[in-house]
Amino acid sequence: MAGIYLHIPFCKTRCIYCDFYSTTRDDLKRRYVRALCRELTLRRDYLQGAVVETVYLGGGTPSQLAEEDLADIFRTLQEAYGLDNATEITLEANPDDLTGDYVRMLRRFPINRLSMGIQTFDEDTLKLLRRRHTARQAMDAFLRCREAGFDNLSIDLIYGLPGETDARWQADLQQAVRLRPEHVSAYHLMYEEETTLYRYLLEHRVCEVDEDASVRFYHRLTDTLSEAGYVHYEISNFCLPGRHARHNASYWQGIPYLGCGASAHSYDGRSREWNVASIEAYMQGMERGERPHEVECLDADTRYNEYVMTGLRTRWGISLDQVAADYGKERLAYLERMARPHLQRGMMAVGEGRLRLTEAGVFVSDDILSDLMYV
Ligand code: SF4
Repeated sequence: MAGIYLHIPFCKTRCIYCDFYSTTRDDLKRRYVRALCRELTLRRDYLQGAVVETVYLGGGTPSQLAEEDLADIFRTLQEAYGLDNATEITLEANPDDLTGDYVRMLRRFPINRLSMGIQTFDEDTLKLLRRRHTARQAMDAFLRCREAGFDNLSIDLIYGLPGETDARWQADLQQAVRLRPEHVSAYHLMYEEETTLYRYLLEHRVCEVDEDASVRFYHRLTDTLSEAGYVHYEISNFCLPGRHARHNASYWQGIPYLGCGASAHSYDGRSREWNVASIEAYMQGMERGERPHEVECLDADTRYNEYVMTGLRTRWGISLDQVAADYGKERLAYLERMARPHLQRGMMAVGEGRLRLTEAGVFVSDDILSDLMYV
């Protein structure tokens, strides 16, 4: 089993909080898609014949792709990998791109899951963040996707935004619950250096929410969504029963994936690779048939640390048998010894051979994880 990630680094405009790798140079799109398809073809052996079960088009803004771009990408995927076993094919979309025509066009491709960057339903905050949609547009786009037959929809929310209050966050959550998406991802705002929002922070034009408020928002998030029937299956992710994001879950479970496109990462179980984070250098390289990238071979300690760190973010936790089998008895003994005090304090729990964080443990997860790292 394996996944494929395709990075689409184009945005119509830049949101002021975002430090993801993307450009507003729309004129490069066709050339980039040709380079991406070339990479997909050249690297067809990377997954060593593993069955591709998930595909994820992320960005940037994949909903900036036109029909001919998607046609090229899906033709190449089909020819090089086969999509017969791909049960989850996700496209990230911005609400303002999801017009009736665009949504109908998407239905002509094997995309069966849309992940919508809504972020908040508060109009003033959407404007402050320079999102391109209004709350009304986001709700209409969501309903349009439903009517078009998409039965697996995810929405992204951000909390701890400038000026956030308990009432405003609650209103966002209630609106999200009313839409009833299959999946909700909710992240606390990070002030990333090099972003306009970070500059606003330094200039005191906005201020960070305090730590007590952050904790209250997180509790409100988990309480509201669990009361509405959502399963809290990863620190920032919630789903209706059985509708977790299979592609993302495979990252957390150490399943190999191929990542294509500028700045995309790949993992084959032993090493990690990442493509150059420059669209121009990426396209020029792929046009010569040479992929500009770097490789890091992961030793057993690093792989153990990554498995523990990512696995413990999920409600499934980590398999003690798998730790012994993949990383050795010595590391298992270390894990059990270091986890013991956290188990005694109720921050961790063991069941059915798996070790996981409890809800209380999630709040101190950084400390717990640093104890469990093998150094
Ligand atoms: S948040 Fe999304 S749409 Fe906005 S700049 Fe970042 S990648 Fe582009």
